[in-house]
Amino acid sequence: MASFFSPTTWQGDRKAVARLPECGKCGLFRACHSPKMKPSGRGKRSILIVGEAPGEKEDEKGVQFVGKTGQFLRTELRGLGVELEDCYKTNSIICRPPRNKIENLHIASCRPNLLKTVRDLKPRVIVLLGASAVRSLLPAEREADVGSLARWVGWTIPSHEHQAWICPTYHPSYLLRVNDKVLERMFRGHLEQAVALEDVAITSEPLEALKKQVECITNPRVARDRVRDLAKQEGILAFDYESNRLKPDDKRCRIASCSFCLNGENTFAVLVDNKMKPMISEVLKNPRLKKVASNLKNEERWTRAILGHRVAGWYWDTMLAAHVLDNRKAITSLKFQAFIHFGIADYERVVAPYFQSGKDGFNRVHEVPVDDLLLYNGLDSLLEYRLMVLQRKQMGLKSENFQT
Ligand code: URA
Repeated sequence: MASFFSPTTWQGDRKAVARLPECGKCGLFRACHSPKMKPSGRGKRSILIVGEAPGEKEDEKGVQFVGKTGQFLRTELRGLGVELEDCYKTNSIICRPPRNKIENLHIASCRPNLLKTVRDLKPRVIVLLGASAVRSLLPAEREADVGSLARWVGWTIPSHEHQAWICPTYHPSYLLRVNDKVLERMFRGHLEQAVALEDVAITSEPLEALKKQVECITNPRVARDRVRDLAKQEGILAFDYESNRLKPDDKRCRIASCSFCLNGENTFAVLVDNKMKPMISEVLKNPRLKKVASNLKNEERWTRAILGHRVAGWYWDTMLAAHVLDNRKAITSLKFQAFIHFGIADYERVVAPYFQSGKDGFNRVHEVPVDDLLLYNGLDSLLEYRLMVLQRKQMGLKSENFQT
């Protein structure tokens, strides 16, 4: 069924809003010595360093990173064989705020300036120093709340739009303040990783390419045949349900759709009705199909509650593996992991409003336009599979024959 938000119209309007020219709205340019400071640096290296805002010294001289903080950064980069002046430099806010106090309005008004700088200079690596830089650039890449800086530092995020690696780390002035040798060492490691990416091409696929790999099967008979056929196969199978409640603890609980990604290649999603359930059970009871999920206890619980049996052949939980690899808070969800590793963001945009739980704990999954639901569901399984492959590699585990 075609819908208003058909899958092909997913590139929403919010990003356009983030790009509207807003410079001057915050009023900061009126009170500083060097208003609307231009980016600087020789640009011999394809690295853009994004700080917070000009400090007193920078405002006085009209150029970024000339004070104590800049000196610290210069020394750290020099230790890696990189001259700060060979990079490009800018700030998330290009006018000096009074008493260096940053407000949300400053960041929002100045975001289009940063985006323009990125578009004009086309750096291969963008180093985000501290929370303001993160809060400036990341919302243009992904809609969800940025949250704390702590969950972002150290990742190297591929930006498909800018063909650049986004590398968040601590702000050097914070490091100077806290004088913590462990953090300094981590900072050095983050810079080292960032510098090493200057000549590394982004090879992960953008969302549009992933969407083409998901088959949304709406014809019930075709869907049943396909699932029946899947039950006879073997290999590694990522699967995912979309349901009408977070947890299956109510008689009215239903699984609306189910998706599968077999061996990284065959990815499809189907609607789940009573006639479909026995076929799905055949798949899930087949131990030669090794199962992958994100938070497998959820899929296990729903399988027991709705299909009345266990899942045979559990193989991998991407959420658990994400935690084993990095035990920071708020980083293990499939959405976060898909963003930091593959640069895939906002594929839930159309369906998200329907998944908000009402007072009774139920959502409106059955109202989601079918194409949108199946595409979203299928992307989850495809990304689970890809994440599993990456995680096993990061853990140094042997690859299975089926992995792509
Ligand atoms: N100097 C800058 O230009 N930006 C900062 O964030 C800190 C010092």
